[in-house]
Amino acid sequence: NKFEQLGLNPALLKAIEDMGFESPSEVQEKAIPILLQKDTDMVALAQTGTGKTAAFGFPLIQKINAESRQTQGLILSPTRELCLQITNELKNYAKHTPGLHTVAIYGGASITDQAKLIQRGAQIIVATPGRMQDMINRRMVDISKIEYCILDEADEMLNMGFFEDITAILSHTPKEKHTWLFSATMPQEVSTIAKKFMRTPVEITV
Ligand code: AMP
Repeated sequence: NKFEQLGLNPALLKAIEDMGFESPSEVQEKAIPILLQKDTDMVALAQTGTGKTAAFGFPLIQKINAESRQTQGLILSPTRELCLQITNELKNYAKHTPGLHTVAIYGGASITDQAKLIQRGAQIIVATPGRMQDMINRRMVDISKIEYCILDEADEMLNMGFFEDITAILSHTPKEKHTWLFSATMPQEVSTIAKKFMRTPVEITV
């Protein structure tokens, strides 16, 4: 099993076995060892359906300190559907990682309910940019100590007009965090975000 050669911990390998994944996809094979071995920024050009959720999700779960309830990872994604899909995937991946909590934050649902879930202590937040920015403005969430920020489907988020929300959200995160940007295409606005907010990212393409 090639997953065993990527540096993943036993809890993740067990979850991978449970899910029936037999071998890593190309983006997983390229991204996972780099993200696990060094604390780096990354730009990954990858379409949906390539297994990119696990490419960032496995390393993120392995790097989070589940003994602390502090929010350590933030994933921004364009739509509510994608947000829920990523959250479900992460919950499966973390099935054998006790104490790891992931919450989904998106518009069109009760903001106070979502704030309560955050207050209980979620190490990972998966959010749409509009609702996230709203919650930051209302002081319902603290992302000042996050260590990892993932921008998923960055081109889609920018197409949908989230440039300002994304830059505002990133301005509330610490400089020392690491950013992993996943995008199917690399239009100007995506490179602008990468140039402005990322430090010498490793680039991978699948
Ligand atoms: P994604 O591109 O992250 O949306 O993943 C697409 C689908 O492929 C999801 O249903 C994943 O659960 C599944 N998947 C991801 N990685 C693998 C793998 N290595 N082997 C089999 N299925 C996978």
